[in-house]
Amino acid sequence: MASEIAHPLSLAVNGRDYFWPSQTTVIICFDGCDPAYLDAARKRNAIPAIDRMARDGFASLALAAMPTFTNPNNVSIVCGVPPAVHGVSGNFYLDRTTGEEIMMVDATPMRAPTILATFANAGAKVVAITAKDKLCKALGHQLDGVAFSAEKAHSCTIAENGIEDVTGLVGRETPELYSADLSLFVLDAGIRLLETQPTDLMYLSLSDYVQHKHAPNASEAIAFMREVDQRIERLMASGAVVGIVADHGMNDMAADHGEPNVLYLGDVLDAKYGPGTTRVICPITDPFVRHHGAMGGFVRVHLLAPHLDPDAVASFIRSLPGVALALSRDQACERFELPEDREGDLAIVAEKGTAIGARAEDHDLSQLAGERLRSHGGLAEQEVPFLLSHPITPQHQAELGVAPLRNFDIFAVALNCLRT
Ligand code: ZN
Ligand code: ZN
Repeated sequence: MASEIAHPLSLAVNGRDYFWPSQTTVIICFDGCDPAYLDAARKRNAIPAIDRMARDGFASLALAAMPTFTNPNNVSIVCGVPPAVHGVSGNFYLDRTTGEEIMMVDATPMRAPTILATFANAGAKVVAITAKDKLCKALGHQLDGVAFSAEKAHSCTIAENGIEDVTGLVGRETPELYSADLSLFVLDAGIRLLETQPTDLMYLSLSDYVQHKHAPNASEAIAFMREVDQRIERLMASGAVVGIVADHGMNDMAADHGEPNVLYLGDVLDAKYGPGTTRVICPITDPFVRHHGAMGGFVRVHLLAPHLDPDAVASFIRSLPGVALALSRDQACERFELPEDREGDLAIVAEKGTAIGARAEDHDLSQLAGERLRSHGGLAEQEVPFLLSHPITPQHQAELGVAPLRNFDIFAVALNCLRT
């Protein structure tokens, strides 16, 4: 049920217009949901609700923002624009003038307002629920509504989160941080809130714990897809418009015998140019690294020695096995719509199936506990599902076919393009 107060017809956010939701609109960021997970689950009839969305509503593939990491994409989705506009292009960056490492979601302000906060300020009832708490701080940025994480469900307060007793509402305790249940709790909390209070806009952001551990055909992955689908069925049964998009895909980055397929670029550059002349930054790194081995398909290289020529270093890196692209800062910013002040001198994208690390000693692969490395970050994880429970107008259908759809278009399509 949407709220009944007087409200504007539409709102502009970061240069795009969004119609006021005519019915409750729920957008799900299905973290790490590579299209292959839907394909595998569909073959086993495990996702009937998602299949119905594809049949009766709208289904397409869309491109995620680069690099294909969680934070840049979640922030892009809630802002409706790429990282060049909002400034979040990874978990942390190296300040080129001070040499300091700066966390991007909790230590620096976002440069753009979110769609969620803008609608809440205009009087809409807005809810944002994330799996991990760190992301909630970014997505709940200046949000006058309900914003909390499954990770901290037990400690929500009205003052901080706009809600309390979330575990009572959902009917179970705070889930484990590294569990499939962390995502299911987000969906269950969303369902309970729809049942108990009027909501205009809801954003539900899951965790990619399962996808990092299990390939699409694994029974654990299929079971997870089935659980998620049952909750999507309940969200749709509430009458809400439901949109699903992913922040990135997921690929296997292990060799045939199971060991991680890693290019330790920091070690290679030290050997070629001398220790201390370059610095490799892996912007996927954060304190929650257990399931990443802190590695993915994208790194930034800073040249610390003045005599190094960026073009020469880029062509050397390009010659290495497993490297798809070595771009200058300007090339990376233009091609991937990235904020210039947070790039290194070079941006490196791995080929599908390869992870790029800094130096071997910087990464603890024992965290994988013998499992194959699965991760994301490069172009091979850019294609994601884009689904809506309701059909869009033929005119919008034609317009959407002109340029590639982006995952951060999901709010615009859900609010502006539905057949009424
Ligand atoms: Zn993610
Ligand atoms: Zn991940």
